[in-house]
Amino acid sequence: MEKTIQVHPHDVRDAGAAVVVSNIVERAGIRTIIAETGTLEERHPYPQGELEHNPVHKVFYTDACFEIPDSEGWFSRLPFRPRLSPQAYAGEDYVQELIVAAKERGAEVLPWVKALNAAFEGDVKAACVNTFSGEPITTWLCPNNPLTEVYVKSLIINMLERYPSRAILVDRLRYPDWSGATVSLERMLTCFCPHCVERMEKSGIDLKILSKLLEEFSKEPLLLEGWLEEKEKASVLQAWFHFRNESITRLAQKIWNEVQIWRDKQGVSPAYWLNLWPPSFAPLLGQDYANLDQLCEGTKHFPYHRLGGGADLGAFVQALAGDDPISQEKVFADLTNLLKLGTISFAEYKQKGLPVSFVTEQTKWGKDRFGENKIFTGIQIWDIPETEIEDTIEAALQGGADGLFFYCYGWATLKALDAVGEFLRGME
Ligand SMILES: [Zn+2]
Repeated sequence: MEKTIQVHPHDVRDAGAAVVVSNIVERAGIRTIIAETGTLEERHPYPQGELEHNPVHKVFYTDACFEIPDSEGWFSRLPFRPRLSPQAYAGEDYVQELIVAAKERGAEVLPWVKALNAAFEGDVKAACVNTFSGEPITTWLCPNNPLTEVYVKSLIINMLERYPSRAILVDRLRYPDWSGATVSLERMLTCFCPHCVERMEKSGIDLKILSKLLEEFSKEPLLLEGWLEEKEKASVLQAWFHFRNESITRLAQKIWNEVQIWRDKQGVSPAYWLNLWPPSFAPLLGQDYANLDQLCEGTKHFPYHRLGGGADLGAFVQALAGDDPISQEKVFADLTNLLKLGTISFAEYKQKGLPVSFVTEQTKWGKDRFGENKIFTGIQIWDIPETEIEDTIEAALQGGADGLFFYCYGWATLKALDAVGEFLRGME
């Protein structure tokens, strides 16, 4: 049973690596630390609250910079590269500091890599996704662009070489969702770059109908429900979702091949794990469990029930429905029906999130689709009563989880870390 916890760069910079490792080992009883190698555009903690045990910041904002110094050469074949954080630019390697501190306490550090999403510098428009209206989203690479393949293979192989470890976690191998610096519906509706347009045409997707539907959807999202009952519109949308899933699977296959070739050459075999959305949401973001199970050695999914599944479901409902409570209830009912999330009201959801049974259901669903391969369950330990942590772990175990990935060190309170430790020590 894998037991891990995820950390962000500012956790280590603000409190020092020794304190972070000590809290993780002593309080939470965990010896595997997964360290973020590039941040997101994100409020810490998300979406509300304060960093209870951070000695410097109560709230911290990150901007999707890359945290690995002296990595410029990794991307020398490309017209763009990830933008370094000021600390990485100055040569500071927080991951290495954490590795040294972890070793002293008998713990280990695994790299957590973001495949397609980062802040970039240079000509990223040569490879980034485009919305249906032709707007480039400059923080996200297109899975069908040949430059993306060069980028992501180099990123992952270089990371494996730089931080020899037992496993690597590859995240954001998908299309953009609605969240970013702001919540945006249009951001979800990608990709219409020349590579994708050509491929979509070849696969027989009617781009005129598709573009019109997406344009209408971005102005009046509630139309979607009716379309799903109209055969022609529904089939165009289905073909588009299928195309996106195939595009991600194809890239995932190429990366997986490259990792296997590298491992054979090196004579080492760090496990290759993916980070996927929970099964309910995954197909909407290009992640097809039934194919990806062949292209990794385990996946972490993140059914953070209080947040609505992974990203912020409440913010999504507000983006779709505006501020009117009646429209919000209607949109929420449609979404929960579409995604099979049970029957609760938006008012209830806003108070308590999804029920903890969501964790069991999504884990089970993932296990069913993943066959023999491993499913690790992300356990929400922030913005949750400490007493609910035990129930959440039990829910994951009931679903058949092969591992518990606690999210995350900096957002959790010290009491929450203690609650994790108490449970894990009881399991031994
Ligand atoms: Zn594209």
